[in-house]
Amino acid sequence: MGLILSRSRTNASTKEAKQFKQNQEQNNKLAQARPADNNSSALADTFSKDTASGVPTKPSADAPVVCIDPGHPSETSEGAHAHGLSENQLNWQVALKLKSELEAMGIRCVMTKSSQNQTVTNRERAEVANHSHALVMVRLHCDVGSGSGYTWYYPDRSATKYGITGPPKEVQEKSHEAVQVINTAMKPILTGYLKNNPIKTDASTYVGGKQGGVLTGSIFARVPTALIEMCFINQKKDAQFINSPKGQELMAKALAEGIKKYVFTIH
Ligand SMILES: [Zn+2]
Repeated sequence: MGLILSRSRTNASTKEAKQFKQNQEQNNKLAQARPADNNSSALADTFSKDTASGVPTKPSADAPVVCIDPGHPSETSEGAHAHGLSENQLNWQVALKLKSELEAMGIRCVMTKSSQNQTVTNRERAEVANHSHALVMVRLHCDVGSGSGYTWYYPDRSATKYGITGPPKEVQEKSHEAVQVINTAMKPILTGYLKNNPIKTDASTYVGGKQGGVLTGSIFARVPTALIEMCFINQKKDAQFINSPKGQELMAKALAEGIKKYVFTIH
């Protein structure tokens, strides 16, 4: 795995390498911003204390790590627009709320970008997750099209890009497990607000379909990866939901409950 990662780093263009370095520096800053130790070695204790007091505390240094990837801007797209809404902005807003929810649950979060309009390639996003040894990389997006509601995507095969083949079989299997657990946990929270769609694979995405059935972020992922299209922003009901503070909070809560279940129950 190490070999593959260093090869992919070496092949990166100067711009990509510079961006990657910035991301890593940002991640280091985020890591340093955490308290050195909150004297809680047991995650279960941390979680129950938080629940009892209602006051979130920062996760301990040995807390499980999750990578949050707010989609766009990337080499592929700056994100969809509809009804005056920007997918990039909505992804970012939900990501910040999700980060707060997860930290309150005793889960450390690594973000793939440090500001809303920062451009990060899809390969770099995966590499941030890999280097942080995240238990799962959760990628937040919003769709446009004829459907409605939320849909999870995961890689069920490997493909080759820039000379690198991935994701490995184990990552495919864990990604499938993650989307199933998270999707199931989200349903009761979002019922009545957003439609739940059947889980799909990268192969049914536009970009995935063009490159052997796997998204770029999945090809380079060496940790489980799961991508959610949170809603269809060109559909009025979905757009109103995801553009409201309450809707974003519900989405973040639902995502956090699912991720918590995956992180603490399965691992
Ligand atoms: Zn998107």
